[in-house]
Amino acid sequence: MNVKKIYMDADALLEGHFKLSSGNHSQFYLQSAKVLEDPKTAKILADALAQEIKSSGLEIDTVCAPALGGLIAGFALAQALDCRFIFAERVDGVMSIRRGFEVSKDEKVLICEDIITTGGSAMEAASVVESLGGEIVAIAALANRGFCKCKNSNIKTHANCKLPQNIPFFALADFTFEMYKPDSCPLCKDGSKAIKPGSRGN
Ligand code: ZN
Repeated sequence: MNVKKIYMDADALLEGHFKLSSGNHSQFYLQSAKVLEDPKTAKILADALAQEIKSSGLEIDTVCAPALGGLIAGFALAQALDCRFIFAERVDGVMSIRRGFEVSKDEKVLICEDIITTGGSAMEAASVVESLGGEIVAIAALANRGFCKCKNSNIKTHANCKLPQNIPFFALADFTFEMYKPDSCPLCKDGSKAIKPGSRGN
């Protein structure tokens, strides 16, 4: 399966000159929500991810996604794995599990994101699940931004990666691309102006 092509076809992988939320510039921008606007595509991606997880032999009771980014991917993955789905959300900046969701002791939980960058939100969700007695057995994402090494990937783990080394991380594809400080951005040097993705109302 050509995951990058699926993202390209869905306009979820944009090429141009972008100003990222970190302030850095990049030639590419991953708008992961866009690939999930067609539920059929979401199912294809989630089924492929579920297949990888199943073939690893892991037992999963529950998928937990950090809101908002992980919701659709997490739900689709839970459906594909035929397990329960819950989500964690920020309340005053603190990741919490609300809405009557319960986690039982030793429940095997997989944390799912749409995209893993450094894995910060995923690990915040993992901490909440663990504080309720759950056991984190895996992390999964449709796309990996290339800071953390996922299973079946050749990339090296970056120092910024927050995912623990002892928990398997599944992702369908690595989307590694260069980021530049604005004052050393080759695209700026070529005279174009970085735009903020989403600045046109999307
Ligand atoms: Zn630039």
